[in-house]
Amino acid sequence: MTHAAKLQELYRQTVLEHSRHPRNFGRLEDADRSAEGYNPLCGDKVTVYLQMNDDTIDQVTFEGVGCAIALASASIMTEQVGKKTAAQARDDITEIMQQFTPSEHQQATAHGDMAALGGVSAYPSRIRCATLAWKTLETALNGRSQLTTTEE
Ligand code: ZN
Repeated sequence: MTHAAKLQELYRQTVLEHSRHPRNFGRLEDADRSAEGYNPLCGDKVTVYLQMNDDTIDQVTFEGVGCAIALASASIMTEQVGKKTAAQARDDITEIMQQFTPSEHQQATAHGDMAALGGVSAYPSRIRCATLAWKTLETALNGRSQLTTTEE
């Protein structure tokens, strides 16, 4: 199998698994920050809840409706950034965004499920499904409460 084929297989399995069994799914009752995201192209809606302990993400959950990619991406996001500092989480957001803007000089820095998510690059129309939860996380970290959409 070529590297691209392996990535596609990893991507397919990861999305399937996370969308069937989303991690950290549900409203966080004592959240001190939350943000809502919407991807009008696909109809995905995600709300991200954060409970911060100083600058550390103590708990992160999400709820929402959407396609398998949007839900899997949100699930992976919660696993990835829980217990990290806001700065570390922002680095992850940057890493994810870079994965979806492939260039010849791109360095594969993402690991595990985050890397698998990069497989969505093969389906440009679905990239916004994959970035939604991460953009919404960024809004929540910024402490803004307005609706985030994937439209620039
Ligand atoms: Zn979608």
